Amino acid sequence: MYKRVLLKLSGEALAAGSGFGIDAIFIHKVAEEIAAVHALGCQIGIVVGGGNFFRGVAQQAIDMDRVAADHMGMLSTVINSIAMQDAIEKRGLTCRVMSAIEMHQVAEPYIRRRAMRHLEKGRIVIFAAGTGNPFFSTDTAASLRAMEIKADILLKATSVDGIYTADPKTNPEATKFEQITYNDILRLNLRVMDTTAVSLCKDNNMPMMVFSMKKPGNIVRVVGGEKLGSLVTA
Ligand code: UDP
Repeated sequence: MYKRVLLKLSGEALAAGSGFGIDAIFIHKVAEEIAAVHALGCQIGIVVGGGNFFRGVAQQAIDMDRVAADHMGMLSTVINSIAMQDAIEKRGLTCRVMSAIEMHQVAEPYIRRRAMRHLEKGRIVIFAAGTGNPFFSTDTAASLRAMEIKADILLKATSVDGIYTADPKTNPEATKFEQITYNDILRLNLRVMDTTAVSLCKDNNMPMMVFSMKKPGNIVRVVGGEKLGSLVTA
C-alpha cells in the first residue's frame, strides 16, 4: 500500500459527461473516494487540471496571446481546486489549497516545506495554478509536485482505464498496456501526458499509474495496491 500519493485529476473529469464546468454530484463522489483513501492512512496531494474551463493551447485558435491564455488556464485550476477543497471539507477532513500564483485571500502560497508539514499532519493538500508558469501543463505540475513531496507514486485518474496502443474510443483494435516504460511512451508517441511531464518522471524515477476514475472505488483500489490500469516505470 502506498503511504503518500500525488493524485492528478483532469479538469474534464470534474465536468463528468458535460465537458464544461463542474458536475456537483461527481465532485462529491470523488471527495468521498479521497476520504476513503485518507481513512486508509495514506497522505494525499492533489493536482487538479483546468480543461473544463479553459485551455491555453485551444485559445490560440481565436488568436489569443498564449501567455495570457495560459494565465487564464492556471486560474481555472484554482476554481476547480476550491470546489474540490469544499467537497473534501464537507466530509470532515482538513484540506489546504496551495497556489503556485500568489493570491493570499483565496489560497496559501505554495511553499514546499509547508506542504510537507500539512501532509505529515494528515491534511489533504491541493496544489493549484499548475506550475505557475505559462507553456506548461497540469500534468507537468503533477509530476513536479509528486517529486517535491516525495510521493511513492503519481496516480493519473482519467476517463480511460489505462494506456492503449491507440485511442480505444475510436479504434476497436487498440490494446492495453499492463505495464510500460516512459521511454516507450516517448518512442511510440503515446498521448498519455506531454513530453515535459514524461521526461520529468523518467529522469527522476517516479512511477505512475494511469487508471479510470469513472468506476467508483478505483482510487481506493489503486492506493490499496491493486493493479488497475497501466503502470508506468522509468
Ligand atoms: N497551465 C499553465 N501552466 C501550468 C499548468 C497549466 O499555463 O503549469 C494552463 C494551460 O493553459 C492549460 C490550462 O492551464 O491548458 C489547464 O491545464 P490542463 O490543460 O493541464 O488541464 P487538464 O487537461 O488536466 O484539465
